[in-house]
Amino acid sequence: MPIPDSFIDELISRTDITELISGYVRLTKKSGANMFGLCPFHSEKTPSFTVNSEKQIYHCFGCGKGGGAISFIRDIENLQFRDAIEILAKKAGMTVPEEDGQAEASNRRKRILELNKEAARHFYQMLKAPQGEAARDYLATRGITKQSVTRFGIGVAPDEWSTLLDAMVRQGFSKQELFDAGLCRRGKKEDGAYDFFRNRLMFPIIDVRGNVIGFSGRRLDSGKDYKYLNSPDTPAFTKSRNLFGLNLAKKTKKGKLLLVEGNIDVVMLHQAGFDCAVAPLGTALTSEQTRLLAHYTENIVVVFDSDEMGQKATLRALSLLERTGKNIKVVNLGASGDPDEFIRKHGAEAFEVLLERSENNIEYKLLTIQNSYNLNTDEGRLSFLTSATNMLSDIKSEPEREIYGAKVAQTAGVSAEAVKNEVKKLLRIKKSRDKKDFEKETMRPRAKIQPASRELRYQNELSAPAEEGILRCLTFDPALIKIINETGFIKDEFTSPFLAKVFVILENRISNDREVSESLIISELEPDEASHLTGVLQKPESLPQGEKSMREYITKVREEKLKAQVPDEELLLEIKRFKETKTAEGNNGK
Ligand code: ATP
Ligand code: MN
Repeated sequence: MPIPDSFIDELISRTDITELISGYVRLTKKSGANMFGLCPFHSEKTPSFTVNSEKQIYHCFGCGKGGGAISFIRDIENLQFRDAIEILAKKAGMTVPEEDGQAEASNRRKRILELNKEAARHFYQMLKAPQGEAARDYLATRGITKQSVTRFGIGVAPDEWSTLLDAMVRQGFSKQELFDAGLCRRGKKEDGAYDFFRNRLMFPIIDVRGNVIGFSGRRLDSGKDYKYLNSPDTPAFTKSRNLFGLNLAKKTKKGKLLLVEGNIDVVMLHQAGFDCAVAPLGTALTSEQTRLLAHYTENIVVVFDSDEMGQKATLRALSLLERTGKNIKVVNLGASGDPDEFIRKHGAEAFEVLLERSENNIEYKLLTIQNSYNLNTDEGRLSFLTSATNMLSDIKSEPEREIYGAKVAQTAGVSAEAVKNEVKKLLRIKKSRDKKDFEKETMRPRAKIQPASRELRYQNELSAPAEEGILRCLTFDPALIKIINETGFIKDEFTSPFLAKVFVILENRISNDREVSESLIISELEPDEASHLTGVLQKPESLPQGEKSMREYITKVREEKLKAQVPDEELLLEIKRFKETKTAEGNNGK
């Protein structure tokens, strides 16, 4: 049983899209009911993302994304329909009616979480068992204390094929459940199964609510296998949306979060008193992870490895983190490879000093640029100036541009005035380029006819605009359904299956006396579809002439249909002959 329509309608009417989107995008009031901001779905410097509080929709002129509250939450949080509804319902103080299939899925998830918890307990106990000796030795050489083992729930998967499987089956879990949780894999033999994690130090991955959602396993031998293995994505775990250690770090009193590369870095930092360290589970930092960080702190410090890869990863992370609007700093570890190594070599106090001296994101970028040129030559200084002024012109705040401009000038050995002028020039160029891009995007009606999503492509580009028109008319004035009935227009006359689908939604709503509005129709669509329809409904329509336009659209669709039909030659001949005999008969009659 799907969620009842009436529930969704009420949910949409209780949700304020402006408030919802303000939680993700800094919106500024511009004109009338429209608010503007930087689009969260593509990277841009001038706002082309609009939210309309009257229509309760959003639309980006840059990338074309748009829709209503449901599609926004689905897109930005990467959620299924049902989960998006849950979130909106919670905000609106409503309870989503249970669905049979849904109850099953949530049971499955619950079972995975239970299984994970038992598995974590098992791995932890194996650390005391005879098979845990290698892991115990390893922990000792890495200097990981008993307290840390307990705090993180570290354990071991011994070098055997089915220790976990056997233990969990004894506890009443099925093989299928072990597959579902990503803890076992199917063997070659029918019915065969073996443990996914073998001979690894096991770190449970725990979410902010305290659920064991998955595991990271670090290789214990020096073999060729991956150094780290994480649980595959399951109904309980999405790697790109979690951070290792956040369950603990979210309680820190340090007022900041430290983002490091590896699990062991996290453990060693916590052990040294920096209970605010988290790591991104081996992935390049994702935007979901940055949002998660931003949710828990105002200050984010990146402490990645000091090698070239780490530096590249830092620059990439900075560009994502800067979009959160939080204070971003970077710690440079110098010759010590990673935070774990630094702490072991120099101790916690030295790390504290390093933290205090950490550069902000701009200083870090400037240093990176500086280090890539030879400033002893004129050529090198010129290249440095070009790169640095380019970076400066991306900074939004003018005082910051001034301060760092002066530093750049000093480094390059030129006057502050010269740098300032150069940055001004670049700013002007970028501004006019952005403006042109914006105009190009928004003033391109013809090219915009085709939906961005391949699956929605129009077959007939001549009929589709008229079909869109029919939908616009019906949305803005549902009473126009009378023209549909009068002309006997039916959904099969649409050449675009997508537009036909929207037509059916409209027809159903109108005939069942349900409310018709953009945001309500959009609530019944997939995000891609919602995006496109928002664009369609934004095109101008002359409403006072609704009836006339409606008739014209219908006529146009029918004309195009006739034109598009490939005439059957036999039939044409037949018609010609028929006409000839008729005229012949007519002549005879005279
Ligand atoms: P190393 O000796 O290479 O420093 P380590 O045992 O000390 O290894 P870490 O320093 O914590 O482990 O992590 C080393 C590297 O392994 C990280 O830079 C990262 O690229 C990768 N890594 C760490 N944790 C994970 C994880 N959970 N999933 C995937 N890769 C990871
Ligand atoms: Mn390390």
